[in-house]
Amino acid sequence: MGKSRLSKSTFIRGLQCEKSLYLYKHHYKLKDPAPTSLQAVFDQGTKIGILAQQLFPDGVDASPENHFKMVESVEKTIDFISQGETIIYEATFLYNDVLAALDVLVKDQEGWKAYEVKSSTKVTETYIKDAAIQYYTISNSGINLKDISIVHINNQYTKDGELDINQLFTIESVYDKVLAFLPQIPNEVRRLKNVIESSDIPEINIGPHCSEPYDCDFKGTCWKHIPDYSVFDISRLNTDRKFDLYNKGVITLNQIDLGKESLNPNQALQVQSEINGTTNINNTEIKKFTEGLNYPLYFLDFETVGPAVPVYDGSRPYQQLVFQYSLHIQEAFSSELEHREYLANPSQDPRIGFIEQLIEDCGNSGDILVYNIGFERGKLNDLIEVFPEYSNKLERIVNRLKDLMIPFQQKWYYTPEMRGSYSIKAVLPALVPELSYNDLDIKDGGTASNTFLSMVNGTFKGDKQETRRQLLEYCKLDTFAMVKILEKLKLV
Ligand code: SF4
Repeated sequence: MGKSRLSKSTFIRGLQCEKSLYLYKHHYKLKDPAPTSLQAVFDQGTKIGILAQQLFPDGVDASPENHFKMVESVEKTIDFISQGETIIYEATFLYNDVLAALDVLVKDQEGWKAYEVKSSTKVTETYIKDAAIQYYTISNSGINLKDISIVHINNQYTKDGELDINQLFTIESVYDKVLAFLPQIPNEVRRLKNVIESSDIPEINIGPHCSEPYDCDFKGTCWKHIPDYSVFDISRLNTDRKFDLYNKGVITLNQIDLGKESLNPNQALQVQSEINGTTNINNTEIKKFTEGLNYPLYFLDFETVGPAVPVYDGSRPYQQLVFQYSLHIQEAFSSELEHREYLANPSQDPRIGFIEQLIEDCGNSGDILVYNIGFERGKLNDLIEVFPEYSNKLERIVNRLKDLMIPFQQKWYYTPEMRGSYSIKAVLPALVPELSYNDLDIKDGGTASNTFLSMVNGTFKGDKQETRRQLLEYCKLDTFAMVKILEKLKLV
């Protein structure tokens, strides 16, 4: 593919940032390594694209042999159209050196219609621009398009028996919006080609565009001068304020003039604590919190998975479903810890086994500590809705939940090491530095979820037994960390 050729994705990249487009075309090696989670997103997108083809069955496929042979798809598409085919998957067009592959091209009584499949649950501005560049390429290739639509996931669909493809997807015409954007396309194409053909890297400073609409994959290059901890890490400070500070030359927290900048009390505490190296401890509130806890104490943590395509009856697309928990139990203040855990078999609905063992393991009395109560309570309420036969027992568990995050969220305990965050991943190294996730194979909830999802989808490659052990070990550390954090709080 010639360097100045644009595709749908490089067009969108260029609209986001000219420098990103230039670097992509001329300095590809500077691109940040793709996060491992991207593979799961990619697999999911592929699965959804193939499923959506069932909305238009019995089509012919113009896919190329590989991504580098896209022109082969253009030729196949021309051939299919001249042979009278009326449903073409991956129909690909080339006009004015802009190459666009469309998920499904269909001809019905009204004429040709274009369908682009997205894994998301709504149509965004970027999708309109994406559809507009397709419309431009297809219509200028001689196809008179009567309509163009985005096919996206309908998150109100609840699976009940066989997967209902017509309910799973929503087909939304974006024809009028595309026509409204269309007049801008020739100029934008010209502008972006000039960027690519230029001999210099565009001079573009970092800004909110580095994350909007997508997280740019050249941050490793452009953000090199931003230290690991900077004004961009000030808790809940809006993006424009962060860039205001940056544009004034204020990059690190100790460059902030607290007399001049208006920050809320928590933000000011974060900055002050960093400048002075001070820890903030509110003994009275912490004591009230720890002395208000009722033994036996349970330390509970859930892991969830949210498949885009619902796998189990009574679940919706992307609904977060519990598949694992860890539970540490302490009968009295200094008694030995007991540990219980649950990890579902990916080939079955994880929820019933989860509910029954959780009810058994949680006993009848004592507080159940979680970290971020909204999450565990929300998941338990979802279970109550789908499995009302367990509602009384699950409601009793909900009523016993208490949130260990409160002392940190309220900043009753704050150290500079927390860097403005009260997530358990920030609190643990500050309070219990000897305990770390770093030595684990699975170090975060996102990886745990993607790993289990790949097992559910059948795309998992690896040692299942070993991976189950890693999942259990990760979740166990989450609740053990809570035990240790509470121990620290009690010493205050
Ligand atoms: S990191 Fe920001 S400035 Fe750099 S290429 Fe990406 S979007 Fe452009």
